[in-house]
Order: sequence, then structure tokens, then C-alpha cells
Amino acid sequence: MAKIYEIFGTNAHEMTVTLMQAANVAGMIPAGASIALKPNLVLAGEPESGATTHPGVLSGCIVYLQGEGFSDICVMEGSWVGDRTDRAMKLCGYDKVCEKYGVPFYDLKKDKVRMVHTPLRDMEITSRAMDTDFLIDLPVLKGHCQTLMTCALKNLKGCLPDREKRRFHADGLIEPIAALGATLKPALTIVDSICGDLNFEEGGNPVQTNRMYLGTDPVQIDAYGCRLMGLQIEDVPYIQLAEKWGAGSTTIREGDIITLNEPTESRTYPAPSSIVRSLTHQVKADSACSACYASLVRGLYMAQEEGIHVRNEIAIGQAYREKSIKGLGIGNCCAGADRYAKGCPPTANDVLALLRTAER
Ligand code: SF4
Repeated sequence: MAKIYEIFGTNAHEMTVTLMQAANVAGMIPAGASIALKPNLVLAGEPESGATTHPGVLSGCIVYLQGEGFSDICVMEGSWVGDRTDRAMKLCGYDKVCEKYGVPFYDLKKDKVRMVHTPLRDMEITSRAMDTDFLIDLPVLKGHCQTLMTCALKNLKGCLPDREKRRFHADGLIEPIAALGATLKPALTIVDSICGDLNFEEGGNPVQTNRMYLGTDPVQIDAYGCRLMGLQIEDVPYIQLAEKWGAGSTTIREGDIITLNEPTESRTYPAPSSIVRSLTHQVKADSACSACYASLVRGLYMAQEEGIHVRNEIAIGQAYREKSIKGLGIGNCCAGADRYAKGCPPTANDVLALLRTAER
């Protein structure tokens, strides 16, 4: 059975090296293998905001792997629909890490794609993600306004072209995330849980939890993430579905967690608040993309700060295309609404401008 190694601290580089040494990662990798590091650069947001993987996780991986004699290493990622990967990688300092250690960075939005059979349906996946011999997933453990939690399995969505990312949302996210996990099956996952935002995927409210953990089973890694965030596995349904489709196991037995040091603060995670649920009670979402939904939630949050409490129903999602909608709509898919925020996705400020015109 897979083990999880965890460590406490704030220095992402040192914590990563120590985790990889403890798990003897070098012993897992075939000689001459190509290795791809897949961080979370969902958008151009600093790691300290709770959205993206700290650059120290990358540098720690590279230093450890190069020290063990591996040279065919790359970093690859594709930001969400609506942001540019190169903007995100520069803001997070990945360009400096890659230059310092002579490792190439590949923007997966520009990669070739191929149609791959998965347990759900055929899916477009980038060739580089499919062809790497040893895929290392480097997610942030954080909240998500649609799936409640995002970690190892959902981070793999960055290995898709934008067209397939949109299709994921049209398919309701749960099944495609599970199917992708069962298809890509990362060989190793190292979770950055130093300061993830426990409510919003795009960050903004980081919570300092000063923890990282490593494992070889992405399903077990996500099951442990649920436990840390105080969620039931059933709250995040793609995890058990990924298990059913052969991506890994949700089982965590006594003794499966190997803790390498003691935290200086409490081990307890603050529970995610119910802020997203309370902000979105009047939202009618159907197949909404993450970036669009995040702009809506952020816009509603800013509106609440201004004392605006919207009474209208708000439609959002690809299922509203070419339909007429009573009330407010978010994004170009909802152009048939009485009033809508333009964009694909619109910005949070566009949403706020719309909400200022709403019934209160
Ligand atoms: S308008 Fe929003 S929901 Fe529609 S395709 Fe664009 S980002 Fe997705």
C-alpha cells in the first residue's frame, strides 16, 4: 500500500528535498526516464496568495533529481481558460528557476494534442503530458468554488488544451476529472499546502498551514487532503469515481502517514468557511467554466463589501448559450439575458458593474 510522507515548515525548497529523500524517489524512476514537473499555475497569482505552487517546490525537485543523476527534466503547465501561462510562470518566478537549473518550461496551451481513450469518453490531452515517462504532479491543496476541494486529481486539468477544459465544464467536471486521473496516473505527487486558500481556487485569502506531503497514489493524496480540510470524501465525488476507474485507492490505514518532523503550530486546519455557498445562493449555474465562476464569486464578494445584496437570479454557464434568460447573466454564453457581463470569461470588475445595476 502507498505511504504518504509529510513535513511541516515554510521553506518549500528544503521541505521538497527532504520529502524526496525520505521517500527515496530516485529509486522509483527508471534510468534515462523523461521527467515532467506539473505545478499549479492556474492563473497569474503569487504563491503567497494561496493559488499557485511555490517556486521552491520546483527548485527542490530539480536539485534533488539532478543530484541523483537525472537530466531529462522539464516543467509543463497550461493556465486556465482566460489567463496566459507565460504571465503566470513569470509572476511566480518559474522563469528564474528554469534558467538557473537549465530546465525547459513548456506552455501546454501551445502543445500538440491527441485524442486519448479514457473511462468516460475520448479526450483531447496534450502530447507532452501523455509522452513523459515519469509525471510528477505538484498541486496546491486549496478550496474550489465548484468542487469544494482541488489537489492532485484536479491539478491534471492543466494538461488539457483550452477546448477540452471547456468541455470538462460542459460535462459537469466530476466525471472528466476522475477519467483524466485514471488516464494520466502521475507517478508521484508532492502537495504544496503551505498557504492554500481554503475557499477560492484563484487565491486571495491564504491560510498558513505550513505543510507539504508526498505520495505515489493521487487518489489517496486527495483523500488525505479532504481529511485535512475537514471534508468527507463524498463531498468531493470525483475522488471515489477515480478510485472506481482505477486511478488509485482512497484507503489510508494507520501507519500510512509518515511524519518527518513536528509542527511548531497546531496541526489542525482551519475549516473552509461557507462563504461561497452563502454568496451564490441565487446563482443558477449549468456547465460554467472555472474562470467564469470565479469571476462571479469574486464579483459577488466585492458587491457584498459595497453593501449590495443582489435579489435577481444570476445565470452562468455554457448550457445557456443561445437561450433567452430572465434577469442577469455572466459571460458571453449568457448573452440572451436581460442584462449580462460581457467576456469569455468576464472579469470580476465586469461582474461587479453588472451587479450594481441589479435589484437589491
Ligand atoms: S462565457 Fe464563461 S462559461 Fe461561457 S465559455 Fe466563456 S468562460 Fe466558459
